[in-house]
Amino acid sequence: MIKCEQMYEGKAKKVFATDDENYCIVSYKDNATAFNGVKKGTIVGKGVVNNKMTNYLMRKLTAEADVPTHFVEELSDRETLVKRVKIVPLEVIIRNIAAGSFSKRFGVPEGTELKCPTLEYCLKDDHLGDPMINDSQIIAIGAATPEDLDTIADYAYRVNDYLKDFFAGVNIDLVDFKIEFGKTADGQIVLADEISPDTCRFWDKTTHEKLDKDRFRRDLGNVEEAYGEMMRRVLGE
Ligand code: UDP
Repeated sequence: MIKCEQMYEGKAKKVFATDDENYCIVSYKDNATAFNGVKKGTIVGKGVVNNKMTNYLMRKLTAEADVPTHFVEELSDRETLVKRVKIVPLEVIIRNIAAGSFSKRFGVPEGTELKCPTLEYCLKDDHLGDPMINDSQIIAIGAATPEDLDTIADYAYRVNDYLKDFFAGVNIDLVDFKIEFGKTADGQIVLADEISPDTCRFWDKTTHEKLDKDRFRRDLGNVEEAYGEMMRRVLGE
């Protein structure tokens, strides 16, 4: 497949067209942003970690949890061939332990284990600051159909069940994560975007050390080291 013109540049990735309209190429950058783009920086090597970790986990999710994804083929350390999809404009967030905005909103201290996983949605819209949105609101504004939303919720819980166990195996608590879904040309809902320390909270089970983007968001230091440590635990490299 031949890499063609750039279609889109996001905060952490660029997307290129290919000579086949059903596929595109994602290229991961080292740029980091937080608080809706207000805080900016670079995390050296992040693009490589996020690309490889995402691809590894997406492969496993398809093979072992029957969750379809946009992943096709890893092309290089930073570039991956994916199915071209129309992104459903929702951030799908699952939580196992209270942290971040959940702790603030509901007054539940960070680190509180939740009695069951929670599922929440935010509307992907930078100008609106990605507001929280519920099922009936999603359907009312046409952000997703009822059928697609059912599929998304089912896949999201399956992703959590699989990843929680997977990360427990490398001594990590999967605190929470954000995933996105897309729709292929033939109408299939698939997991898209990434699964990485940018989009998940990872805490070491023993030391409770944070090994994710909160090190950047909260100026905790050793940001590159945390991404490197997660890559070693997941991929053994
Ligand atoms: N998250 C993300 N992108 C966003 C917002 C959140 O990847 O734009 C992830 C975040 O890394 C965390 C989870 O979603 O793993 C829940 O984030 P939260 O709502 O607590 O927001 P935050 O405290 O990060 O602002």
